[in-house]
Amino acid sequence: MLVLRAVLVELEELDVKTISVSKTSLSDYLRGLTSTSSKFVWKIYRVKNIKFAVQSLWEHKPKLYTISRLGLKSVGKQICKYHEGPNEKIEEHWYCNRPAVSPNGFCSEHQKSPLAYYEKCTAGNLNACYAVDRLWAGEKYAVYLLAFGNNMFKAGMTRAWRVYTRILEQPHTVAHVVNVYDSIVSARQTERKLGRIVGVSEGMGVKREARLATSLKKIVNRAILEEEARRLARLAARVAGGETSIELFTILPRRPELFANAKPIAFNELVGKSLEIVDYWGGYLLVKSDNMYYLVEKMDILHRILRVFELTH
Ligand SMILES: [Zn+2]
Repeated sequence: MLVLRAVLVELEELDVKTISVSKTSLSDYLRGLTSTSSKFVWKIYRVKNIKFAVQSLWEHKPKLYTISRLGLKSVGKQICKYHEGPNEKIEEHWYCNRPAVSPNGFCSEHQKSPLAYYEKCTAGNLNACYAVDRLWAGEKYAVYLLAFGNNMFKAGMTRAWRVYTRILEQPHTVAHVVNVYDSIVSARQTERKLGRIVGVSEGMGVKREARLATSLKKIVNRAILEEEARRLARLAARVAGGETSIELFTILPRRPELFANAKPIAFNELVGKSLEIVDYWGGYLLVKSDNMYYLVEKMDILHRILRVFELTH
């Protein structure tokens, strides 16, 4: 019996490009004013290694493994997702092993933990945001914008140290960190302000599977992906005002062409099959079984008691 706690990814840098976007408004242009432009650095990364934080139910600390094959006998009950420890060192974290009882996945003891308040805050509960600022000293929060291949953008917020992890949890073409704050209340206010711009949404009006399909279509072609970068750059320039050094980034899967043809499936439908872990991107694990490729949402398997018949690492 084991619990998978996190998917951890090492990235490699593939390319760095400079993008210029004109900031001239229509009224300036009509008055004959010279155009000003913003320069953006666009970094393109690719998933290099995928590791899992694996917890035995008899231990509190997980171990990191690269899992190449996984066969499940069953996907069982949810375990409390509370953990604490140094940022970015998941293998040193203490994880709870009590059953989850709250709808957002915490045990009775950890429902009022800073992490539980944090999750409520990111789900839109402003009182919980004030609690996080009181309880979590020294944490920093990044507010970001991302494009996912249609005419919309998403504004979001996360702890600054895991911004790349957070972006990789979502289907995206290009992302941009708008600002970093010491207070989650300030970060949340900026996120809300961004959500009021036309074409930007805080929550997602578009389902994850639809975002997956639209973003996959764009990331397989570099010229089309660059158009996405320009589109987000124009919005970022509007938001940033006078700032000059603005950075955009994209994280690509290792095998985008396999993602595009894989079938989304619920994890419990793969119970009893031997699965090869091929890739991870957009919050989905790409697995291969009997020569078919499937996409499984990461959240379907994390923090659950798994009984395995095969585990190769
Ligand atoms: Zn707990």
